[in-house]
Amino acid sequence: MLSYNDALLSILETVQPLTPCEISTADAGGLILAEAAKSHWDMPRCDNSAMDGYAIAGGSSTGGLITGGSPLEIIGASYAGHPFSGTVPAGQSIRITTGAALPDSVETVIPIEDAEEETNRLYIRSSFSIGQHVRLQGEEFQAGVQLLQAGTLLKAGEISLLASAGVSRVKVYPRPRVAIISTGDELIELGETPRPDQVVNSNLHFLTTRLQECGCEPVCIGIGKDNTSSLDQFIAQALDADLIISTGGVSVGEKDHVQEALSRHRFQKHFWKVAIKPGKPVLFGLLEDKPFLGLPGNPASTAMTFELFARPALRKMAGHTDCHLQKRNGILTGKVKGGGDRQIFRWCRLEWNNDRYEIDVQSHQGSGQNLSIQGANALLTIPVGTSQIDRGEIVEVLLLS
Ligand code: AMP
Ligand code: MG
Repeated sequence: MLSYNDALLSILETVQPLTPCEISTADAGGLILAEAAKSHWDMPRCDNSAMDGYAIAGGSSTGGLITGGSPLEIIGASYAGHPFSGTVPAGQSIRITTGAALPDSVETVIPIEDAEEETNRLYIRSSFSIGQHVRLQGEEFQAGVQLLQAGTLLKAGEISLLASAGVSRVKVYPRPRVAIISTGDELIELGETPRPDQVVNSNLHFLTTRLQECGCEPVCIGIGKDNTSSLDQFIAQALDADLIISTGGVSVGEKDHVQEALSRHRFQKHFWKVAIKPGKPVLFGLLEDKPFLGLPGNPASTAMTFELFARPALRKMAGHTDCHLQKRNGILTGKVKGGGDRQIFRWCRLEWNNDRYEIDVQSHQGSGQNLSIQGANALLTIPVGTSQIDRGEIVEVLLLS
């Protein structure tokens, strides 16, 4: 059976970044730039004040530190968004606010705290230096310079930088659209009352929520019945997504019909079954050239195989160059059992405690259970051949966030 690493490699070799598109910068948070972004103008756009106070012209300066002496006449004001329209002759001043344009002849700002105003006369109460508290045009960046390179993840700081530089549209890798096909005659919708033999389609809600958290767009196709023709129809409806995920019906049971339904379409199987626990029956291939992941239906298996396989694939589609889940080391707070011939993954919680990362393995790790998934922020991996890892040992985990 394929190892986790080989299966993941097969996925990452198959899946490609989506075709970049141009969108409004306002909608680009969380996306990756596909093309470098350049400034449209100088920033600041003009010389302006860094403080609320008074802008003074000329004076008795010889270039160094000077001390204010006789008062300067105040002849007007420059406010942010309302520049002073005249000129300020040497020895005169204007009121100015932070961000307001500096008139041409003016080069120095006296903070409000260092001055006193009396009947339109300005008394400067402390020493100052020529050019102080002025932000010069273009001192942050100039028109045409590259602000961000291709491959940058656009977070709040990047978006605000682009906005300040007038970059209203950007070329990005689009959000992957992910179709979700649920399968199972026993499934009902959230909000319905189940018979004792029915279960709520909780996997759908794990996947839609998680996909949104990962910056993807979930497309819920519906609940396919456990027969080939029902699944066949749902598969046909999913084909325009960037990635298609099915849950359940992919194991060896009599009612597992996903593969049979796929064979009615152009499906190229890359692998089925990986030596992991939970999640062994995971299926991957190309369905009419679209990547298709068949996740086993047990809730912890669906969630685990989503993290282990779908997340790196989606990162690649979204233009990330490092698609793998990040790793971190920490100290195990309790022993965990390994064993068997599959690599084991356990939901766990990584926390910074006592100046070190501690790793708590969640309880209720049964593949049919949802409890262990809540609160988990990492996955502990137990290699094949390890029968137990003891409390206090340093282990590596894969981060989920
Ligand atoms: P399967 O992989 O179809 O054999 O399903 C394995 C187990 O997972 C069964 O107990 C199913 O009821 C359960 N299951 C399958 N799909 C879902 C789902 N979408 N939400 C919750 N449980 C599910
Ligand atoms: Mg089923």
